[in-house]
Amino acid sequence: MVRRKPYTNVIKRNQLRPEHVKGMGDVVFKGFNCLNSECRKFIFVRKEQIDKEFNIVCPTCGFVLHSQGESIFYDYQSVNIQDNSIIEEGQFTILHDDYINEAQEYKYCIICGTLKPLEFFDKHSARQSGRQGECRLCKTLYNSIKNQTRIIDQHREASEKRRLYGFLAREPAKIDAKAIYDKFEHKCFRCGRQLAYPEEGNIDHTLPAKLFWQISTGPTLLCSDCNNMAMFPLTQVNGLA
Ligand SMILES: [Zn+2]
Ligand SMILES: [Zn+2]
Ligand SMILES: [Zn+2]
Repeated sequence: MVRRKPYTNVIKRNQLRPEHVKGMGDVVFKGFNCLNSECRKFIFVRKEQIDKEFNIVCPTCGFVLHSQGESIFYDYQSVNIQDNSIIEEGQFTILHDDYINEAQEYKYCIICGTLKPLEFFDKHSARQSGRQGECRLCKTLYNSIKNQTRIIDQHREASEKRRLYGFLAREPAKIDAKAIYDKFEHKCFRCGRQLAYPEEGNIDHTLPAKLFWQISTGPTLLCSDCNNMAMFPLTQVNGLA
Protein backbone atom coordinates (compact mmCIF):
# COMPACT_ATOMS: atom_id res chain seq x y z
CA MET A 1 0.00 0.00 0.00
CA VAL A 2 1.26 3.45 -0.89
CA ARG A 3 1.99 5.59 2.13
CA ARG A 4 0.57 9.03 1.75
CA LYS A 5 2.31 12.11 2.95
CA PRO A 6 0.50 13.71 5.87
CA TYR A 7 -1.33 16.96 5.28
CA THR A 8 0.63 19.86 6.65
CA ASN A 9 0.06 23.18 8.22
CA VAL A 10 3.14 25.37 7.94
CA ILE A 11 3.60 27.38 11.12
CA LYS A 12 5.76 30.47 10.68
CA ARG A 13 7.90 31.91 13.44
CA ASN A 14 10.39 34.77 13.49
CA GLN A 15 9.16 36.03 10.16
CA LEU A 16 10.91 39.16 8.96
CA ARG A 17 8.48 42.01 8.36
CA PRO A 18 10.38 45.13 7.37
CA GLU A 19 8.54 48.38 8.00
CA HIS A 20 8.88 49.68 4.43
CA VAL A 21 7.17 46.60 3.00
CA LYS A 22 4.09 46.70 5.22
CA GLY A 23 0.95 47.32 3.20
CA MET A 24 2.97 47.28 -0.02
CA GLY A 25 1.78 43.95 -1.40
CA ASP A 26 -0.41 45.62 -4.00
CA VAL A 27 1.43 48.88 -4.60
CA VAL A 28 2.90 49.06 -8.09
CA PHE A 29 6.02 51.09 -8.78
CA LYS A 30 7.65 52.18 -12.00
CA GLY A 31 11.39 51.78 -12.04
CA PHE A 32 13.74 53.61 -14.41
CA ASN A 33 17.24 54.98 -14.51
CA CYS A 34 17.64 58.72 -14.13
CA LEU A 35 17.78 60.04 -17.69
CA ASN A 36 20.80 62.25 -16.99
CA SER A 37 23.43 60.14 -18.77
CA GLU A 38 26.02 60.98 -16.11
CA CYS A 39 23.78 59.71 -13.31
CA ARG A 40 23.46 56.10 -12.24
CA LYS A 41 20.48 56.48 -9.93
CA PHE A 42 17.69 53.99 -10.47
CA ILE A 43 14.46 55.64 -9.46
CA PHE A 44 11.26 54.01 -8.22
CA VAL A 45 8.02 55.97 -8.16
CA ARG A 46 4.58 54.73 -7.17
CA LYS A 47 2.67 54.25 -10.38
CA GLU A 48 -0.47 55.96 -9.07
CA GLN A 49 1.61 59.07 -8.37
CA ILE A 50 2.60 59.47 -11.99
CA ASP A 51 -0.15 61.55 -13.59
CA LYS A 52 -0.43 62.70 -17.15
CA GLU A 53 1.38 65.79 -15.93
CA PHE A 54 4.41 64.61 -14.02
CA ASN A 55 7.52 66.10 -12.53
CA ILE A 56 10.04 63.63 -11.14
CA VAL A 57 13.21 64.97 -9.56
CA CYS A 58 16.20 62.63 -9.32
CA PRO A 59 17.15 62.46 -5.64
CA THR A 60 20.81 61.99 -6.58
CA CYS A 61 21.53 64.62 -9.24
CA GLY A 62 18.44 66.82 -9.27
CA PHE A 63 17.70 66.11 -12.94
CA VAL A 64 14.00 66.60 -13.68
CA LEU A 65 11.99 64.16 -15.74
CA HIS A 66 8.75 65.87 -16.67
CA SER A 67 5.79 65.58 -19.00
CA GLN A 68 6.61 67.10 -22.41
CA GLY A 69 10.26 66.96 -21.37
CA GLU A 70 12.96 65.93 -23.84
CA SER A 71 16.52 64.65 -23.56
CA ILE A 72 18.92 64.94 -26.49
CA PHE A 73 21.64 62.32 -26.95
CA TYR A 74 23.22 63.23 -30.29
CA ASP A 75 22.77 65.22 -33.45
CA TYR A 76 22.20 63.26 -36.61
CA GLN A 77 22.24 63.57 -40.36
CA SER A 78 20.54 60.99 -42.49
CA VAL A 79 22.54 60.80 -45.72
CA ASN A 80 21.63 59.31 -49.08
CA ILE A 81 24.46 56.87 -49.85
CA GLN A 82 24.06 57.32 -53.61
CA ASP A 83 24.69 61.05 -53.88
CA ASN A 84 25.63 61.98 -50.31
CA SER A 85 22.76 64.42 -50.12
CA ILE A 86 21.30 65.07 -46.69
CA ILE A 87 17.81 63.69 -46.36
CA GLU A 88 17.19 64.83 -42.84
CA GLU A 89 19.04 66.46 -39.95
CA GLY A 90 17.99 66.52 -36.38
CA GLN A 91 18.62 65.65 -32.78
CA PHE A 92 18.18 62.21 -31.34
CA THR A 93 15.59 63.03 -28.69
CA ILE A 94 13.94 60.84 -26.10
CA LEU A 95 10.59 62.14 -24.90
CA HIS A 96 10.21 61.86 -21.16
CA ASP A 97 6.59 60.78 -21.61
CA ASP A 98 7.70 57.79 -23.71
CA TYR A 99 10.47 56.96 -21.27
CA ILE A 100 8.20 56.87 -18.22
CA ASN A 101 5.44 55.17 -20.15
CA GLU A 102 7.55 52.17 -21.11
CA ALA A 103 9.23 51.84 -17.69
CA GLN A 104 9.11 48.41 -16.07
CA GLU A 105 6.57 47.90 -13.29
CA TYR A 106 7.65 46.53 -9.92
CA LYS A 107 6.19 45.61 -6.59
CA TYR A 108 7.34 44.29 -3.25
CA CYS A 109 7.17 40.63 -2.33
CA ILE A 110 5.51 40.45 1.07
CA ILE A 111 7.71 37.49 2.06
CA CYS A 112 11.28 38.24 0.94
CA GLY A 113 10.63 41.98 1.08
CA THR A 114 12.33 42.71 -2.24
CA LEU A 115 11.15 44.89 -5.08
CA LYS A 116 10.78 42.73 -8.17
CA PRO A 117 9.38 43.14 -11.68
CA LEU A 118 5.65 42.48 -11.76
CA GLU A 119 6.22 39.48 -14.03
CA PHE A 120 7.96 37.72 -11.13
CA PHE A 121 4.58 37.35 -9.42
CA ASP A 122 1.82 35.01 -10.51
CA LYS A 123 -1.40 36.59 -11.67
CA HIS A 124 -4.24 37.16 -9.25
CA SER A 125 -7.05 39.11 -10.85
CA ALA A 126 -8.92 39.79 -7.60
CA ARG A 127 -6.05 41.83 -6.25
CA GLN A 128 -5.47 45.47 -6.98
CA SER A 129 -2.05 44.90 -8.49
CA GLY A 130 -3.38 41.96 -10.49
CA ARG A 131 -0.59 39.90 -8.94
CA GLN A 132 -0.07 37.71 -5.93
CA GLY A 133 1.49 39.08 -2.77
CA GLU A 134 4.47 36.75 -2.76
CA CYS A 135 6.97 36.33 -5.56
CA ARG A 136 7.26 33.10 -7.50
CA LEU A 137 10.54 32.16 -5.82
CA CYS A 138 8.98 32.47 -2.36
CA LYS A 139 5.84 30.70 -3.47
CA THR A 140 7.72 27.76 -4.95
CA LEU A 141 9.83 27.38 -1.85
CA TYR A 142 6.81 27.59 0.42
CA ASN A 143 4.96 24.99 -1.61
CA SER A 144 7.92 22.65 -1.46
CA ILE A 145 7.76 22.84 2.32
CA LYS A 146 4.01 22.57 2.45
CA ASN A 147 3.91 19.62 0.07
CA GLN A 148 7.11 18.03 1.38
CA THR A 149 8.48 17.72 -2.11
CA ARG A 150 11.98 18.73 -1.06
CA ILE A 151 14.00 18.82 2.09
CA ILE A 152 16.15 21.86 2.69
CA ASP A 153 19.47 20.14 1.96
CA GLN A 154 18.20 18.91 -1.37
CA HIS A 155 17.15 22.43 -2.09
CA ARG A 156 20.67 23.78 -1.48
CA GLU A 157 22.28 20.99 -3.43
CA ALA A 158 20.03 21.57 -6.38
CA SER A 159 20.83 25.25 -6.27
CA GLU A 160 24.60 24.51 -6.26
CA LYS A 161 24.20 22.31 -9.28
CA ARG A 162 22.12 24.83 -11.15
CA ARG A 163 24.79 27.42 -10.48
CA LEU A 164 27.56 25.24 -11.80
CA TYR A 165 25.72 23.79 -14.75
CA GLY A 166 24.38 27.18 -15.61
CA PHE A 167 27.76 28.58 -16.54
CA LEU A 168 29.53 25.44 -17.64
CA ALA A 169 26.98 24.47 -20.20
CA ARG A 170 23.87 26.60 -20.60
CA GLU A 171 21.81 23.42 -20.77
CA PRO A 172 22.05 21.46 -17.52
CA ALA A 173 21.75 17.94 -18.86
CA LYS A 174 24.50 18.32 -21.42
CA ILE A 175 27.55 18.29 -19.16
CA ASP A 176 29.76 15.49 -20.33
CA ALA A 177 32.42 14.83 -17.73
CA LYS A 178 33.98 12.03 -19.74
CA ALA A 179 34.46 14.33 -22.72
CA ILE A 180 36.20 16.86 -20.52
CA TYR A 181 38.50 14.19 -19.11
CA ASP A 182 39.28 12.97 -22.61
CA LYS A 183 39.93 16.46 -23.90
CA PHE A 184 42.58 16.96 -21.23
CA GLU A 185 43.89 13.37 -21.59
CA HIS A 186 42.93 12.69 -17.99
CA LYS A 187 45.62 15.11 -16.80
CA CYS A 188 45.41 18.15 -14.61
CA PHE A 189 45.64 21.19 -16.86
CA ARG A 190 48.10 22.92 -14.51
CA CYS A 191 50.35 20.24 -13.00
CA GLY A 192 49.85 17.37 -15.40
CA ARG A 193 48.97 14.87 -12.69
CA GLN A 194 47.00 11.88 -13.95
CA LEU A 195 43.40 11.91 -12.84
CA ALA A 196 41.39 8.74 -12.81
CA TYR A 197 37.93 8.83 -14.28
CA PRO A 198 35.58 8.88 -12.53
CA GLU A 199 37.09 8.20 -9.08
CA GLU A 200 38.73 11.60 -8.80
CA GLY A 201 35.43 13.22 -9.04
CA ASN A 202 32.01 12.43 -10.23
CA ILE A 203 30.17 15.55 -11.17
CA ASP A 204 26.86 14.05 -10.24
CA HIS A 205 27.77 13.19 -6.67
CA THR A 206 30.69 15.20 -5.41
CA LEU A 207 31.27 18.91 -5.54
CA PRO A 208 32.01 19.28 -9.22
CA ALA A 209 33.68 22.67 -8.90
CA LYS A 210 36.78 20.91 -7.53
CA LEU A 211 37.67 19.42 -10.87
CA PHE A 212 36.99 22.22 -13.22
CA TRP A 213 38.61 25.52 -13.79
CA GLN A 214 36.78 28.01 -15.87
CA ILE A 215 38.86 29.48 -18.67
CA SER A 216 37.63 31.22 -21.76
CA THR A 217 37.46 28.02 -23.79
CA GLY A 218 35.22 26.22 -21.33
CA PRO A 219 35.60 23.84 -18.41
CA THR A 220 39.16 22.75 -17.65
CA LEU A 221 40.26 19.64 -15.86
CA LEU A 222 42.22 20.29 -12.66
CA CYS A 223 43.27 18.22 -9.71
CA SER A 224 41.82 19.38 -6.43
CA ASP A 225 45.16 20.83 -5.26
CA CYS A 226 45.51 22.99 -8.31
CA ASN A 227 41.94 24.01 -8.16
CA ASN A 228 42.51 25.31 -4.66
CA MET A 229 45.57 27.20 -5.86
CA ALA A 230 43.92 28.60 -8.94
CA MET A 231 44.22 32.33 -9.16
CA PHE A 232 40.56 32.78 -9.81
CA PRO A 233 38.34 30.47 -7.86
CA LEU A 234 35.41 29.42 -9.95
CA THR A 235 32.96 31.37 -7.89
CA GLN A 236 34.82 34.64 -8.32
CA VAL A 237 35.39 34.30 -12.02
CA ASN A 238 31.73 33.97 -12.53
CA GLY A 239 30.67 36.53 -10.01
CA LEU A 240 28.74 34.01 -8.04
CA ALA A 241 30.51 34.32 -4.70
ZN1 LIG B 1 20.06 61.60 -11.51
ZN1 LIG C 1 9.76 36.79 -2.44
ZN1 LIG D 1 47.13 19.87 -10.62
